[in-house]
Amino acid sequence: MLQQSSTLFDLPVDFACFGSGSSGNCYYLRQGDCGLLIDAGVGERRFKKAFMDYGFNMAQIKAILLTHEHLDHTRCAGRLSKKNNLPVYSTASVFTSMRHNPVIHNNVPAANEQTIQHGTPFQIGPFCIEPFKVPHDSSDNTGYFITCGNVNFCLITDCGSLTPDICHYVSRAQHLVVEANYDRDMLQNGPYPEYLKLRILSKNGHMDNAVCGNLLRENLTPSLIRNIWLCHLSQENNTPEKALATVNEAIAPLHLPCKAVPLHRIEPTGPFVLRSEQNSA
Ligand SMILES: [Zn+2]
Ligand SMILES: [Zn+2]
Repeated sequence: MLQQSSTLFDLPVDFACFGSGSSGNCYYLRQGDCGLLIDAGVGERRFKKAFMDYGFNMAQIKAILLTHEHLDHTRCAGRLSKKNNLPVYSTASVFTSMRHNPVIHNNVPAANEQTIQHGTPFQIGPFCIEPFKVPHDSSDNTGYFITCGNVNFCLITDCGSLTPDICHYVSRAQHLVVEANYDRDMLQNGPYPEYLKLRILSKNGHMDNAVCGNLLRENLTPSLIRNIWLCHLSQENNTPEKALATVNEAIAPLHLPCKAVPLHRIEPTGPFVLRSEQNSA
């Protein structure tokens, strides 16, 4: 077998989730000494404790990528950026909206703002990052397709409707985090006020279990996909059991090497080692 010329490619890529859902979203990807946080929506103290309990080291975090400005995605981004002098990557309208949000007290220092554009890839250490638009009721929202050596990872959250880009990135994904926010019956018959139900159901709201299942069935590439994690499950309008049953039933005809699993809402999930080859187990 041919040896890789670069040992960088041999280092494992780790993934962990430090919260998923309306009480806070935070994901971590790391290869060697280069780590990326994607969203920083959990409390700083809780994040740091869980992060260090896992044996990760704050000095490994090289950047924070933000999907959008909602507090459940940005809660500790400003503080982490300031204290650790970390660059924060997001689109111009997300930064503007964060600056004007009275609820966000600790903003990202202007010098640490790194403005990105959908469709324009950029590099951080070994990670090549392709940002793409995801429809949501925020000033803007970004999905990330991240390649490191021969491993790739894709995150799509807070997604009100599907676009050709979203389908394209799902079709290329090996390790996918995708939103399964609500069960339609639970939402429609649940306790939320009507205006909130309409907001969640709208084209700029969130993705339900059935739409998520269809997206995966129609676009996943069975020879590529290795992990499917369901994120941002609603506490009031969904259960992990319902999300799994709906999504796994939808993808059953594909006979994939993996099943969808939910990310925990509050507790961390993982860490996982991301591989490009199929697990032999
Ligand atoms: Zn949101
Ligand atoms: Zn959210």
